[in-house]
Amino acid sequence: MKNVAILGSTGSIGRQALDVVRAHPDLFALYGISAHSSETSFVAQVVEERPRVAVFSRSLSIDVSGTELRWGDQALYDLAADPQVDVVVLAISGIAALKPLLSALRAGKRVAIANKESLVCGGDLVKEVRKQGGGELLPVDSEQSALFQCLQNGRRDEVEKLILTASGGPFFRRPRAELGGITPEQAVKHPTWSMGRKISLDSATLMNKGLEVMEASRLFDFPGERIEVLIHPQSVVHSMVEYRDGTVMANLSTADMRLPIQYAMTWPERVPSPAVPLKLWEHPDLAFYRPDMARFPALKMAYSCLQAGGGCPVVYNGANERAAELFFAGRLGFLDIEDSVAYALDRFTNRPMQDLDDILAADGEARRLVDEFQSTRS
Ligand code: NAD
Ligand code: MG
Repeated sequence: MKNVAILGSTGSIGRQALDVVRAHPDLFALYGISAHSSETSFVAQVVEERPRVAVFSRSLSIDVSGTELRWGDQALYDLAADPQVDVVVLAISGIAALKPLLSALRAGKRVAIANKESLVCGGDLVKEVRKQGGGELLPVDSEQSALFQCLQNGRRDEVEKLILTASGGPFFRRPRAELGGITPEQAVKHPTWSMGRKISLDSATLMNKGLEVMEASRLFDFPGERIEVLIHPQSVVHSMVEYRDGTVMANLSTADMRLPIQYAMTWPERVPSPAVPLKLWEHPDLAFYRPDMARFPALKMAYSCLQAGGGCPVVYNGANERAAELFFAGRLGFLDIEDSVAYALDRFTNRPMQDLDDILAADGEARRLVDEFQSTRS
């Protein structure tokens, strides 16, 4: 029996992680939850699930017996490191997940990690803290889970390259000239996955795939040159590993995040899941295309940032997070997102990231540069 803490329990991944816990009362007990927004659904989760600890970002006054209600950042870091917790599901969005991640890894936890921004920005710091604390990182992001599973079929020195698939988002077939007027409502309508709004937008801009190239590099320790992206609009093949003899191992399943969430929690065991089995005959049209880097500058910039190292990945992410906020607020257009990331990267003086302060400073600088970009537009 493992005690689980779900950080970001009110989000898309958080709610599906809760489903996985509920589906396996013999394997998992819900020890803690945390959230930052959606007060009503957080309170409903507390009342229905009665976790031992519940952490909200602000103080809440609800009366529940059996649950210790806490609030604020420190309470969140404490839950991530709580001696009673065996598995932390990290389902917070954005760089806000970095400190809870470090806290969990320092305490030697297994972290089922959905959040990619913390891996992209945390870089070597996350690696070091994981080593020192003895924690484990098990990927939840569907592509990374697919790579993780395919990598179990051979030795590392037998691997030629990692192949990440990308749905291409809702505008894959639209000419670039038509993308300027895309609204937030159009941008978050993902063709194959139902997800939180920031990652849905990132999928439409391809910033998500850029972040995933860096995420894969961090998780599996491969350089950008050995990580390829293929557009695969059906989202049936979640990613692949090519071995040196030319054999390609692929991971296929229905598009249901509960599968990779559960696998990250149960690995090395595999148990039945609530997901519907794949009916491959319903997908006679599986297709793969090489992405056009000129059409997707978000992808091109991600490879350059990975190559440059230092603070560039942090700036890529921070600028994108800020640009997404401004896009949702109606203050930036759709194509301004990649332009503002390029603007921030152009003006950032790259330097090594020695510690958390360096990372947070680079993140703050990226956000300021995007605000500067926005002010030149209005
Ligand atoms: P979401 O917006 O639906 O949920 C985010 C959760 O994090 C909410 O519970 C929210 O209250 C909490 N949160 C937000 N800001 C916070 C802060 N500053 N401090 C503490 N908690 C905070 O997001 P999501 O779609 O579930 O995605 C979560 C993470 O998982 C993201 O990093 C995303 O890239 C990654 N991911 C999501 C999916 C998916 O299918 N949704 C797939 C792969 C990876
Ligand atoms: Mg993904």
